[in-house]
Amino acid sequence: MESFRMSKNVFELEIEKKNPCNYIALYHSISMDVIYIKKAMYESIKSALLSNGTIEPNDNIICSLIEKKYIVLYETDDDAEYRKIADTINVINPTTLRLQLTESCNLNCTYCQIERNYKNNNQIHMSEDIAARSLALFAKYAPKGKQKTIILTGGEPTLNFKVIKLLLQHTKELLDSYRFILFTNGTKLTEQMAKLFKENNVLVLISLDGTKVQHDIYRKDFSGKGSFDNALNGYNLCKQCGCNVGISGVVGTHNVNELDDSITDFFLKIKPDSLGLNFEHYLLNADNSNILPMEKYADVILSTYIRLREQGMYLENINRVIEPFVKQRINAKECAALGRGITVLPNGVVGPCKTLLVAGIIGKHLDEIEKLDSLKDDDVFLEWSNRSTYTLECCKGCIGISLCGSGCTYDSYVLNGNITNVDKRACIFIKQILDFMITDLFCHIQHSNDNDIIIPTAEDRQKIYSTIRLDDNDLKRSVGHEI
Ligand code: SF4
Ligand code: SF4
Repeated sequence: MESFRMSKNVFELEIEKKNPCNYIALYHSISMDVIYIKKAMYESIKSALLSNGTIEPNDNIICSLIEKKYIVLYETDDDAEYRKIADTINVINPTTLRLQLTESCNLNCTYCQIERNYKNNNQIHMSEDIAARSLALFAKYAPKGKQKTIILTGGEPTLNFKVIKLLLQHTKELLDSYRFILFTNGTKLTEQMAKLFKENNVLVLISLDGTKVQHDIYRKDFSGKGSFDNALNGYNLCKQCGCNVGISGVVGTHNVNELDDSITDFFLKIKPDSLGLNFEHYLLNADNSNILPMEKYADVILSTYIRLREQGMYLENINRVIEPFVKQRINAKECAALGRGITVLPNGVVGPCKTLLVAGIIGKHLDEIEKLDSLKDDDVFLEWSNRSTYTLECCKGCIGISLCGSGCTYDSYVLNGNITNVDKRACIFIKQILDFMITDLFCHIQHSNDNDIIIPTAEDRQKIYSTIRLDDNDLKRSVGHEI
């Protein structure tokens, strides 16, 4: 008779309900399947497996657990599936071009990791020549027939409006399907700009950390004056001109206590088309001990998400995890820098991640990169494209392997001095969100169902979105919020 055991990719999770719950959740870390099973039933299956590994494969419940690879034959190689996925992951297929249009910014925000990490900031703008060459380089490597994203950042990119206009005009000659995302502090936006962004369907992401009180604590100009009023003017201007306009904020000690309260009220009132609320990145060679603990960030971002979803508003940071879970689509690489993106600085230096490029830690000039036959011939692009949760030794056997994308590689570098480890904040975040999703899904589907085992359908999993409507082609789903 054949002998069985539980797969080592299956994790037991308590359902965190206020009332005692007689179910336990079993989560498969590779397939992201969830099965809710009565605790007593599960205990009896486990003890049968533990005593001699023999079970009755004809039983319906056992059949389901075998079919979903929760229970496997004793001699099964649990890592086989893992290796199969790892083998397909190390590709360079850039769909994102990130252009830093200027080194210059009219603001002096306290936590800006770009301005503070700069090795040599000469306040230069990207020239038309560098912009055109960057676009041509991207067109050479970007896959045909797939939507491409061009992200315009700085410094403050609107200070180099001449190059924005050039890019909007010429991109159609080189790329088949694309969209633009502009990251701006909003303070220099004019009507002329907003009209152009509307005409070209540019998603404008404006930095706003909350209402005036919280926003102005960190986001000031060089004289120390808060930037909220001008940023909000820019936001309203874009709205009036009919642009797709979103908000990209940073959550820190300055706004965390009001985030799921007055700040959420404010965002609901001004109705951005997309919303991203990032945690603070580390600064290089600086004391980072005052950064908000991840546990607190995750708690607050979850309660904010719950409030926003009731009104159908999308929150990018959470949906970045919820979407792979709901669709059971593996997210092994969180950020475009891991094989899906090319970044170019104003001086023509090219590499995967803007933050390490400005610090002079990685990067080569366009002159060199243009001569390559493949981006794989560049050791930095190659090393970054090889990083994923399925290739990092420290992620092997982790519950979050299909969900977390390995977090921010730059933060991992600051913490560990290399990119072969992770920033443990990503692990804390993913585990809190996963606990939430498992419990939330259970609350949505259990109701009167008293079966010994509950297996959510694809439709059931969608219920985590509540009233949020998602469309894969929607500009509102910004991939650019992560920076
Ligand atoms: S998310 Fe992190 S690794 Fe990715 S581009 Fe931004 S700073 Fe770099
Ligand atoms: S980064 Fe952390 S949570 Fe994500 S797979 Fe690796 S160890 Fe797990």
